[in-house]
Amino acid sequence: MIKYLELNKVNAPYRAEIEDKLKTILDKGWYLLGDELEQFERLFASYCDTKHAIGVASGLDALKLIIKGYMELGLLGEGDEVIIPSFTFIATALAVTDCHLKPVFADIETGSFNIDPKEIRDKITSRTRAVIAVHLYGQTGDMAEIEKVCKQNNLLLIEDAAQAHGATFIGKKVGSIGDAAAFSFYPGKNLGCMGDGGAITTNDDRLAEMVTALRNYGSRVKYEHLYQGINSRLSEIQAAILSVKLKYLDEEIRTRNAIATNYLRGIKNPKVRLPSVHEDRSHTWHIFAIQSYERDRLRTYLDEKGIQTQIHYPAPVHKQPAYASFNSLELPVSENIARSVLSIPLNSMVSEEEQDYIIKAINEF
Ligand SMILES: *Cc1c(COP(=O)(O)O)cnc(C)c1O
Repeated sequence: MIKYLELNKVNAPYRAEIEDKLKTILDKGWYLLGDELEQFERLFASYCDTKHAIGVASGLDALKLIIKGYMELGLLGEGDEVIIPSFTFIATALAVTDCHLKPVFADIETGSFNIDPKEIRDKITSRTRAVIAVHLYGQTGDMAEIEKVCKQNNLLLIEDAAQAHGATFIGKKVGSIGDAAAFSFYPGKNLGCMGDGGAITTNDDRLAEMVTALRNYGSRVKYEHLYQGINSRLSEIQAAILSVKLKYLDEEIRTRNAIATNYLRGIKNPKVRLPSVHEDRSHTWHIFAIQSYERDRLRTYLDEKGIQTQIHYPAPVHKQPAYASFNSLELPVSENIARSVLSIPLNSMVSEEEQDYIIKAINEF
């Protein structure tokens, strides 16, 4: 059986280094907001080419804290509209609604699976204040066009970079393209810790200072609470694990690219559509999603061949029961893609033999 993802195997190469770090932390007895977090924040900011990186408890919290931060700074307010793609993980929408802002669901482009800049233009109203661009599957959308729309209309551009650590758009690192970006270190992400974790990156000093306070009960000095903050800290243990794994992230991305290239060259079946690559952006291949109008039959067939697959995602957010009031909205590209996508195993532990077996199985479908 070729599993979709086996985290014990993915993390095995880092075991000795992580064990050393854990021993140091156990000896020190300091578990939150310490040296390990500071070190990781420095390393991650440098990796993303940003002035600041702020560790938080999850990717969802990173998105929420960016919004809350802008609310405290007076740039966003309750009831403001935020344009987001509907074809994303639900966290993108939850961050907006949890802060009492209004999500405006936009459709995606067929090629990049990311928000369509034309849709953004169409959905702007006098209440629109921000756009969240999700770099789905590990690749950005047309960030030049999205940036242009945002600048022309005075909108904040927030990146949901949870799936795209290390990706670039015309040489610019994800996390440094918009006004602020949210990352997730959920175990299955390309840069994953061993629990929940997340980070915010930005070049904006005021936002950085604000979210640093907000993640720790709205406080900078103990028991002095300037804002109604939340508890969302990246623990010393998770930060230490991430500092170890960050050193190898570019290597991981290179391996993923080699596997993706193999799939792109090898898979040849008229019933299967391959993901498209764009010259102006680098892909981290967090997810390799093929498309087929016979998706469900293909999935069962691959399962019978011992190949485990996933569906990212079976329904766009505006069709989820949690967003019932949006269910009648029609976003044809998102809906169509949700019916046809299938993620095949792609991570550093899928051997060449396994890759060839997967290619052969798909070609024989
Ligand atoms: C994983 C993910 C999130 C949420 O991250 P968590 O750490 O699980 O809270 C947000 N957006 C996208 C696109 C994701 O893939």
